[in-house]
Amino acid sequence: MKKNIHPKYYPKAEATCTCGATFIVGATKPKIEVEVCSKCHPLYTGSKKIIDARGQVEKFQKRIEKSKKLQSKIQSKSSKVKNQKEKKSKTTSKKK
Ligand SMILES: [Zn+2]
Repeated sequence: MKKNIHPKYYPKAEATCTCGATFIVGATKPKIEVEVCSKCHPLYTGSKKIIDARGQVEKFQKRIEKSKKLQSKIQSKSSKVKNQKEKKSKTTSKKK
């Protein structure tokens, strides 16, 4: 091996998963944090759960709920607002 171009190798690096499992692997870092491992990945467990380490799915669903609420609010007003907007857009387009 050529000298000074290879990173330090840790044959017993400790990998920690977000599910709590730890295992020993060979790596160039002494400690590794992973989001999914063979103990919690659906392929190995057989379950059809959604992997969501950072709450991204939850955030997305909350956002959808928010938009639905807003849309229902808007729809209640829209009948009045639509007429006003149409009038405004017509007047502005004439000015240009
Ligand atoms: Zn895991």
